[in-house]
Amino acid sequence: MSSLGRGYHLSRDSFVFDVMNVADAGDCSVVPMSVEKTYELIEAFTGNLMKQNKKFISAGGDHSTTLAHLRAVSKHLGKPVSMIHFDAHLDTYPAAWGCEYHHGAFVRHAINEGLVDGASSIQIGIRGPLAGRADLDFNHKHNLKYITVDGLRMQGLQKTLDSLPKFSADQPVFLSFDIDCLDPSCAPGTGTPVPGGLTTYEVQKLLQALEVKNLVGADIVEVSPPYDQSDITSLAAIDVMFEILCLYRSCHAAK
Ligand code: MN
Ligand code: MN
Repeated sequence: MSSLGRGYHLSRDSFVFDVMNVADAGDCSVVPMSVEKTYELIEAFTGNLMKQNKKFISAGGDHSTTLAHLRAVSKHLGKPVSMIHFDAHLDTYPAAWGCEYHHGAFVRHAINEGLVDGASSIQIGIRGPLAGRADLDFNHKHNLKYITVDGLRMQGLQKTLDSLPKFSADQPVFLSFDIDCLDPSCAPGTGTPVPGGLTTYEVQKLLQALEVKNLVGADIVEVSPPYDQSDITSLAAIDVMFEILCLYRSCHAAK
């Protein structure tokens, strides 16, 4: 679907390729039998990009892969990052079937490992059902804020955009975008769709409203082409990638 991509953003009035060189850095190998070994490969791959002072947008993969990016980014910077996390899910869940590392647990590990500063991070697109009220305990414990779709719709889009946190130049930010923050009507091609989600337009406005001066890395995860209809999910992912490129451009222009 990237063949449908373009470089000029109408509402931002900016052309992403005038000040940035953008390249496909290739694929990172995975070990299908081992999440842990796959993490090592991703961390090395991303760490290598960081060493060369490159910014990146990783195209996943499920959401377990984000933990490896965060390990690489935090290790390179020598400090935790703030995270802007789009998702229907909190991804702070406990071990599943005895396995600690799965696509619903990366936020818990990232904060517990000191890779992400919970109090300066935000989750956007959260909605139920949850397993129980205790699912929110981790957020409360770490002062990790979240915006629900319900909250956005009831107070209105503009008020929600105005309420987004602003990140200064000395706050490195990682943006993690789980495609299932979108409603299944906008992004059916994903493993754990949740009804009552964001529209593609709302996601565009949220991404355009972000005030980030130092975006250090980003990823788009949970796109599953075999589950897709008419490539609509991949097209939404390409659009998100374009918005993130524009965000990188605005960080670059602000320097
Ligand atoms: Mn997720
Ligand atoms: Mn999710």
